[in-house]
Amino acid sequence: MTEWKRNKCPKCGEENPKKLHEVPDKNQVLYYSMQGNPVYKKLMKCGVCGEIFGNGAT
Ligand SMILES: [Zn+2]
Repeated sequence: MTEWKRNKCPKCGEENPKKLHEVPDKNQVLYYSMQGNPVYKKLMKCGVCGEIFGNGAT
């Protein structure tokens, strides 16, 4: 049984995936790709209220 991890804005409660966008947290580099490009930790940004929050994935 797999549990679908749902993102939800902690500020306004929006959970429509089309309103929530992934944005890179450029303060947190997870690793560097084989091309040498930094891969940043992902944060979620709410398109409704603009709140930026973690998506729970580490
Ligand atoms: Zn929101």
